Amino acid sequence: MSTDKLDPETIAAHANTEPDPATGAIGPSIHPSTTFVRDTKYELTNPLHSYSRDESPSYLAAERTLATLEGAASAFLFSSGMAAGSAVVSCLRSGDHVVAPRVMYWGLRNWMMIFCERFGIELEMFDPTDPDGASKLVRKGETRLLWIETPCNPTWDVIDIARSAEIAKDAGAKLVVDSTAATPVYTQPLKLGADIVMHSATKYLNGHSDVIAGALATSEEDDFWQDIHQARFQGGAVLGTFEAWLLQRGMRTLFLRVRRQSDSAMAIAQHFSDHPKVRQVLYPGLPDHPGHSVAAKQMTGGFGGMLSFLVEGGRDGALDFVKRCKLFARATSLGGVESLVEHRASVEEEGSPVPQDLVRISVGIEAIDDLIADLEQALS
Ligand code: PLP
Repeated sequence: MSTDKLDPETIAAHANTEPDPATGAIGPSIHPSTTFVRDTKYELTNPLHSYSRDESPSYLAAERTLATLEGAASAFLFSSGMAAGSAVVSCLRSGDHVVAPRVMYWGLRNWMMIFCERFGIELEMFDPTDPDGASKLVRKGETRLLWIETPCNPTWDVIDIARSAEIAKDAGAKLVVDSTAATPVYTQPLKLGADIVMHSATKYLNGHSDVIAGALATSEEDDFWQDIHQARFQGGAVLGTFEAWLLQRGMRTLFLRVRRQSDSAMAIAQHFSDHPKVRQVLYPGLPDHPGHSVAAKQMTGGFGGMLSFLVEGGRDGALDFVKRCKLFARATSLGGVESLVEHRASVEEEGSPVPQDLVRISVGIEAIDDLIADLEQALS
């Protein structure tokens, strides 16, 4: 059935697949085969499939679903979000200029700093709270990549995607958006002018804290995209077939999970915004959040399931709060069905811009009253 007129929720629920004509199976199959046969004329049975490091039939359900949800020309799965992000940056050349926000997922930020220094790529970082931050650094004809993440993990500052796309286009640069926290439920960066959207599929796309995976989706299958495909194929950062199958299964409930998580995050943000032990709630859905108007423009229908508290009492106050949580698990990562709480500064390395009193909260799908009660008792 053509997906043209279907609602994105329906596309996700069906994982963009048809019942298998050979067996009638409703769910997509896993193909662990690493290699694919040729006939006596030396033709492949399916020209897409020769060797699984290049492209696996087990990837297609998740890749096609993501491409449709993002309005992309095509999508690739990777063995992790880091592998997806690093595949993009590895396609740059010595002498290229890159601009990225100072606050973004710290693992990728650190890797980018090391990689760019090692390979003679000039990396400059802007303040994501400054609406002109990127435009002050991007240089016409010199900047090759403008990388943004929005909302930015873990302060949830919001970067204007449409504006960033204009800045990048004007300079002749690619705009790549890490949209892990926003998810395709709330933001479609390619429709706002981005060239490539990236996800740590470990988070909301899979949603069950049991798969490490990454994904990229592109507006155009141009030379840069071919280079990225080559980086996956030759660099070998491919996802296991069972993990790809788990990912497509997780994606089928993406809309249900993310809407629930976002509604609960908003309820928690509102409930604790006047709490005496919480100095500030960082959530783009709150009208007094500095990025609220941009978020309301580019996030359609909700603001996501991530927020942070700046807790009274500095580092000790924040650590005391996380120590007392009972329902919220003290663990890193985000986007799973179970709620997590994390003192971010403790896990980021020296030089991290994250405040010591910041506690990051990943809201799960539990009953909202239980979640609020747990945070209340932890702050009492
Ligand atoms: N981007 C964001 C926003 C993340 O939060 C993470 C991981 O926490 C990554 C990228 C890296 O993804 P992965 O852990 O799947 O490699």
